[in-house]
Amino acid sequence: MERVTSLEDLPLRTNLQGRSPYGAPQLHVPVALNVNENTHAVPEAVARDILAGLAEAIRSVNRYPDREFTALREALARYLGEGLTADNIWAANGSNEVLQQVLQAFGGPGRSLLGFAPTYSMYSILASGTDTTWIAGTRDADYELSPATAVSEIVRTDPDIVFLCSPNNPTGTPLSLETIAAAYDATDGIVVVDEAYAEFAPVGTPSALTLLPGRERLLVSRTMSKAFAFAGARVGYLAADPAVADALRLVRLPYHLSALTQAAANAALAHSAEMLAMVDDIRGQRDRLVVELACLGYAPHRSWSNFVLFGGVTEPRETFEALLGEGILIRDVGIANHLRVTAGTEQETTLFLDAIARLGRSDRPGQTVPAQAE
Ligand SMILES: *Cc1c(COP(=O)(O)O)cnc(C)c1O
Repeated sequence: MERVTSLEDLPLRTNLQGRSPYGAPQLHVPVALNVNENTHAVPEAVARDILAGLAEAIRSVNRYPDREFTALREALARYLGEGLTADNIWAANGSNEVLQQVLQAFGGPGRSLLGFAPTYSMYSILASGTDTTWIAGTRDADYELSPATAVSEIVRTDPDIVFLCSPNNPTGTPLSLETIAAAYDATDGIVVVDEAYAEFAPVGTPSALTLLPGRERLLVSRTMSKAFAFAGARVGYLAADPAVADALRLVRLPYHLSALTQAAANAALAHSAEMLAMVDDIRGQRDRLVVELACLGYAPHRSWSNFVLFGGVTEPRETFEALLGEGILIRDVGIANHLRVTAGTEQETTLFLDAIARLGRSDRPGQTVPAQAE
């Protein structure tokens, strides 16, 4: 059919006019290190169990699924520990949907959401989709966020909702529990800690989950997309006071988690140790990226996630394109002189490091490379 209408011809809501959709390029390349997926596949034995769960679920797919996804909430509570029960858990099709439901319930027209830029690009997109006013707060030097800065931004902007990304995407920066507790005390609104990358923190690091008791406006969101190697299944979740789940029940679509999604997630969670087996390895590749990029003359930022943001890139677009020409896809996150790369398998990480080492010798600050003999 011929396309006769463009977006400009449609009566779009005013607050969506001129906006761009989320658009990380989806290209088929040998080495995809652009959207912080776990680049290790689901282990074969676990894949077989997931298939068995799906096979059983498909036999009753003529019926609507458990609207309360009770078994999944129980499995997620067990996985998180910290004394949480199914009543504390909510889940949806990716943590993006969870965050959207939070904005539908607690944001909306006349209300505002504060985040600390640069941060996850979906926050402002979810805000405009729910007609919530997005406020981009600032950070300290090197993308850190101290309790004092978080509090002064909250006092200055008086938001209804605060999103704290811990560790922060796209910078990788950790966030202290002190900052989270101070932010909570500075507002009487909702505070969401997005812990999409929590499993990649140093072993023994306490999660914001430990702050939940006595803080009924604190929500901690997680995802199975990153450490759990389950991005394609679309499962995100949060832990909070049971009243928060009641609020989200008001805005979720009925039966929003399909029987197949619930079956797949339950089977994967029954094998959480195997699903998370590669996390140590990925942490090692991340630390290697930091060390080796610094040796090459770039300026990597410290990271507690599965990716590294590095500065000192004179021409990010050219470096990005040159890597793509070699079949390696990384991410230009729109920060001047920076690029972001996901920690892949050892082999993928080596291919990236070798390729960037060969590139742009003139691109590297403070480093002169002798002309190579032909
Ligand atoms: C990847 C990511 C998510 C996860 O999104 P899903 O919808 O669960 O796949 C959430 N928050 C941040 C900061 C992320 O980087």
